[in-house]
Amino acid sequence: MLPGRMMDFPLTLSHLMERARTFYPRSEIVSRNPDKSLHRYTYADFYARTCRLANALTRLGVKAGDRVATLSWNHYRHLEVYYGVPCMGAVVHTLNLRLHPNDLGYIARHAEDSVVVVDRSLLPLFEKFKDAVPSIRHVIVVPDAGPAPEGTLDYEALLAAESPDFDFPQLDENSASMLCYTSGTTGNPKGVLYSHRSTVLHALACCMTDVTGMREADAVMPVVPMFHAAAWGLAFDAVLTGAKLVLPGPHLDPPSLLDLMAAEKVTLAGGVPTIWIGILALLDQAPNKWDLSSMRSMLIGGSAAPPSLIEGFQQRHGLEVVHAWGMTEMSPVGTMAKVKGPLRQAAHEAKSSARASQGFALPFVETRVASDDGTLLPWDGETMGELEVRGPWVASSYFSDEGADRYTKDGWFKTGDVVTIDSHGYVRICDRSKDVIKSGGEWISSVALENALMAHPAVLEAAVFAGKHPKWDERPLAAVALKEGQQVTKEELTAHLAGQFAKMWLPDDYVFVPQVPRTSTGKFLKTKLREDYGDHLLKNPKADAAT
Ligand code: AMP
Repeated sequence: MLPGRMMDFPLTLSHLMERARTFYPRSEIVSRNPDKSLHRYTYADFYARTCRLANALTRLGVKAGDRVATLSWNHYRHLEVYYGVPCMGAVVHTLNLRLHPNDLGYIARHAEDSVVVVDRSLLPLFEKFKDAVPSIRHVIVVPDAGPAPEGTLDYEALLAAESPDFDFPQLDENSASMLCYTSGTTGNPKGVLYSHRSTVLHALACCMTDVTGMREADAVMPVVPMFHAAAWGLAFDAVLTGAKLVLPGPHLDPPSLLDLMAAEKVTLAGGVPTIWIGILALLDQAPNKWDLSSMRSMLIGGSAAPPSLIEGFQQRHGLEVVHAWGMTEMSPVGTMAKVKGPLRQAAHEAKSSARASQGFALPFVETRVASDDGTLLPWDGETMGELEVRGPWVASSYFSDEGADRYTKDGWFKTGDVVTIDSHGYVRICDRSKDVIKSGGEWISSVALENALMAHPAVLEAAVFAGKHPKWDERPLAAVALKEGQQVTKEELTAHLAGQFAKMWLPDDYVFVPQVPRTSTGKFLKTKLREDYGDHLLKNPKADAAT
């Protein structure tokens, strides 16, 4: 081999931040506070405060590789932690505030978090699991809703005491930058440890014209939380390109999102289908109320976007929706549904079908379909198999080495999604190999609920499965068979579960059956349950059940 003679320059997040300070110091970051007032500052301010944070964390003894957790909404201080922590060589660990305290305790303990940065408004949640995490040395409170209480450190006071300069170290591009946990649909949640290199490469690919096409002139609003799959990398893409960032804070209801989009002239926004379903319904009711003429692209992913949603935005409001697929294990973006080549000239139906698909792979992501025995399947748009992927921003293993069974012998990652791929490369997700329930973009494990239900003295069998829901996409339903001579009401079952699960996990309804249907090998036959009862909530939705 004749080696190339190019510099081995590390791909690190510090470069993104330095670049933003040098070339885009006046680009804005706008955050909405819990009281709906707006906080505005520039990339130059962001850089200086991130330096102050790095100085403060150094003074608190944070070392390379230490995990600094966040329990925060999308706002500017969360962004400072997103950069300050990895750029000083430590690892930012985003905790998902929608999880049950027991799960949060497990995850923070598993990650051995040593510092937690928590919004004042989320402190009551943190209090519920902090005792489960003996590794925590410091609690830093972001004063979003009142001052930091005694025994904690005030984020603003810490920053105020520090210098706005910090000499960020030259890091190895393969060093860890961020830790995100999967939702643990089978067994416990597993950690995915991104590197500087993987995050930078992911950002470069995502900003390509035929992916998000993000650019300096954009105003980018990640509705997708920064605590779930790194907000799809949108906060990294924005700093890379110098785009304006609009961070919505805790208010994610459709009217306040629309207010913010219109006021800040948002051009690019990303969120799960549930968010967009609510927004479309409101726009349909009041088509002229909000001026969205700046909006050029709305990204949808995290669960399947219904074609009617994509078409509805396009046809009734002239708004472009781009459907994307990804996973926490993939940083997270893997495919994007841009209409390409001959399909642009094709009939409306073919174009719509491409748009409604999960899209084709980003550069450097490779996709293939395999059967259960590992045989590779054709890209004919019909043959279903498990999607396997590889690429520089796909996890090579989990933190603490669990989950080795998710990899093939030749090093591809098994996604657990059952798909077809057509001759153009468009992936279509047909089902999940696991029976996880996705409600408003969050996962609900049917097995955990079943196990708890079956621990009730009156219950013989219980199978929890997804019911379609007009607002939340899916909600859990439970089929329950009682022990002979026993009786129990739906309310009693809910009360039994309520102490163990977050409210959004509780089934919306129960059906009492003589026996749960089974497969030939004795497993619960959930496809049959979905066939029989999957539409039940569409006729009978409980609108407030998942909040
Ligand atoms: P998470 O790691 O929580 O982001 O979840 C990843 C999983 O969400 C994937 O394996 C898919 O099952 C599902 N998913 C993500 N995006 C889509 C999409 N556009 N359509 C259908 N399912 C999706």
